[in-house]
Amino acid sequence: MFLDLQHLSVRYANTPTPVVRDISLGLRTGDIGVLIGPSGCGKTTLLRAVAGLESATAGSITLGGKVVSQAGLSLPPQDRQVGMVFQDYALFPHLSIGRNVAFGIEHLPPAERRARVDEVLTLVGLPGHEARYAHELSGGQQQRVALARALAPKPRLLLLDEPFSNLDVDLRERLAHEVRGILKAAQTTALFVTHDQLEAFAVGDTIGVMHQGALHQWDNAYTLYHRPATRFVAEFIGHGVFAPAVIQEVAGQVVVQTPLGPLDNVTDCPLPSAYPNGQCDVLLRADDIVHDDSAVAKAQILRKAFRGAEFLYTLRLATGETVMALVPSHHDHALGEWIGIRAQVDHVVTFPKLSNKELPTL
Ligand code: ADP
Repeated sequence: MFLDLQHLSVRYANTPTPVVRDISLGLRTGDIGVLIGPSGCGKTTLLRAVAGLESATAGSITLGGKVVSQAGLSLPPQDRQVGMVFQDYALFPHLSIGRNVAFGIEHLPPAERRARVDEVLTLVGLPGHEARYAHELSGGQQQRVALARALAPKPRLLLLDEPFSNLDVDLRERLAHEVRGILKAAQTTALFVTHDQLEAFAVGDTIGVMHQGALHQWDNAYTLYHRPATRFVAEFIGHGVFAPAVIQEVAGQVVVQTPLGPLDNVTDCPLPSAYPNGQCDVLLRADDIVHDDSAVAKAQILRKAFRGAEFLYTLRLATGETVMALVPSHHDHALGEWIGIRAQVDHVVTFPKLSNKELPTL
């Protein structure tokens, strides 16, 4: 691994417990990792520790085979060859774009410096913008200049902390795809922090879900969505709810009983013996619930959100459970209406039932 975190913990002098707790993860050269999680879960602290701006309380950070952080050791930021891009583009307003981009490569001979500025501005899609000033550019363009500035010194690792959070939502997703293309073209290893799932999926090869200082899962987007390692990941990624379920074996076939009726024909499911009496909670995602007028199970529409091609309906079953369903938007039903639904799940995600003690934290 090019970047290798082993059991990293970080505590601030004034925090009683670590805000980053026992995190291990690795990035290969050229890979883009994304850390995602709710505000305050420790993403920025982890990034700052990798940059050398915070020290490790326990564990280690290895970069290119060399330990750069561990308890009692912290290689200074300037010796790590790590670049950073923050959410406010922080371009110098009184310097031209060319001089902004050249900021970290002043030591190069002028001709080489000019060539590198030209190269990275071309890479970010802004060739020939050297003589412009920040105020002449849009927010998205300014952020691309900030990226060019960070890439100019050819960092071994680029850290990006919510780089698009000041931009319009539409622009953010487009820019996320663009930035992925730019980082791949530059063959840069990068660690990117966001709280936006679409952005994480658009940018990352590997995505880490953090919660309260801990890393719950470090995987590709498909695995996070289809095989969430914890209840937190299951709830945080995508739209879904847990419903009480019983796994049974009927005539050699595994059947999962749910408030929506039995899930049968499941291809990938735990055996009944995985849980006491087969009783567990099953994850029902909005895209697992199909609207079908002929279905036996009926549910009442509590809320609906228009998503263009689809509605995201929040529905209540007669048994009181709530589920969500993505339904093509030409099925425009009224609030309060009862519609037929069935679950179409082939890979069944289950977790142990929460004890009563745990329930309030859900
Ligand atoms: P995120 O980037 O996921 O929003 P942060 O890493 O910024 O999370 O913060 C994690 C926790 O550490 C929060 O509880 C925050 O209040 C605390 N924290 C962040 N910076 C400091 C600091 N300089 N001193 C003390 N506590 C801090």
